[in-house]
Amino acid sequence: MAVFICSRCGAVVESNSTPASTGCPSGSHIWHRVCSSGGVAPKAGTRPFQCKKCGKIVYCSSTPAGSGCPSGGSHIWVRL
Ligand SMILES: [Zn+2]
Ligand SMILES: [Zn+2]
Repeated sequence: MAVFICSRCGAVVESNSTPASTGCPSGSHIWHRVCSSGGVAPKAGTRPFQCKKCGKIVYCSSTPAGSGCPSGGSHIWVRL
């Protein structure tokens, strides 16, 4: 499944489509798709990546996209 991170509250979810914008503690979620094949927990074929800025960990089959870091600007992903 794809992995999305909200650039406002830092929520991380896996979903096949863009999640609903409701329920963000800061108003409405602004979702950014960081990878199209992965999840929030380890799965076969994925590797863990952590953002040096916001500290989020995602499990993706390739390096996640940078846009939408909740700490501002772009994520800086480091493979764990
Ligand atoms: Zn949010
Ligand atoms: Zn980040």
